Amino acid sequence: MNSHSTNRTAVITGAARGIGRAIAEKFAADGCHVAVIDLDAAQSKQTAAEISDQTGADVIGLGCDVSDRESVDAAMEAVSARYGTIDILVNNAGVTRDNLIHKLPDDDWDLVIGVHLRGTFLCTSSAQRYMVDRRYGKIVNISSTSALGNRAQLNYSTAKAGIQGFTRTLALELGRFNINVNCIAPGFIDTEMTRATALRLGFSPEEYMAQRAKGIAIGRVGVPADVAHLAAFLCDDNASYVNGQVIYLSGGPETRRGG
Ligand code: NAP
Repeated sequence: MNSHSTNRTAVITGAARGIGRAIAEKFAADGCHVAVIDLDAAQSKQTAAEISDQTGADVIGLGCDVSDRESVDAAMEAVSARYGTIDILVNNAGVTRDNLIHKLPDDDWDLVIGVHLRGTFLCTSSAQRYMVDRRYGKIVNISSTSALGNRAQLNYSTAKAGIQGFTRTLALELGRFNINVNCIAPGFIDTEMTRATALRLGFSPEEYMAQRAKGIAIGRVGVPADVAHLAAFLCDDNASYVNGQVIYLSGGPETRRGG
């Protein structure tokens, strides 16, 4: 049991699957109440029910588009109505629409910037009110090594770099309310997002993972639980002096080939 868990309520966006789901599982296993938020309400509820069965924790699933103000406020209000407040927010929801600039449609630019940057802003601006009221909060934003530059990810790289500036500035604003704001920038993690990339590039997911592992110092690709453990550490009260940090989680100092 970690000190982030006692009677805490954690909201995890994009948690129906992948990294978000692993974070939701970890926080539920550590004893938090957890809200699984994702675009599809049925999928969110199903994941929430599965995590609740696995862990015995009180987990709800809610449909929410993180890039829509009304949808976000309604979800945060529903969480607060059920559990009394929001203590932890992990801004994890994400999409990719990779292309070189001359083939990148405006809509794909807007979608990726909208989900990552506007989504992180809206969820945070809605949830921080509850945290400020209670003078307690932990916010973890999910960036990527792609923030440092990754060919054919102009939209994604720009959004993920923006999330790092967002983290540092928000930490300066909210620190005095006993709210920690940090950022995890994962490298390559095996999820549906990267499996779809493999197929798009003409590889089987297994071939692609093996190929990517060769370029990683630790000799393997990441798994969602790697991100979940770091998120739990950042939300632990024993880590409360860690604030405004961007932590690269990529199996080594190699930083540019992102996920
Ligand atoms: P994933 O498996 O594709 O999961 C992302 C989830 O976010 C999906 O369930 C997706 O729902 C949801 N989502 C998309 N748009 C949303 C919206 N507007 N509102 C609410 N939910 C939305 O991806 P992942 O690999 O777990 O990635 C999770 C996060 O880690 C993302 O921010 C990603 O950029 C970041 N990341 C991933 C890697 C990696 O290698 N996998 C590396 C670095 C950073 P739908 O399925 O309905 O679209």
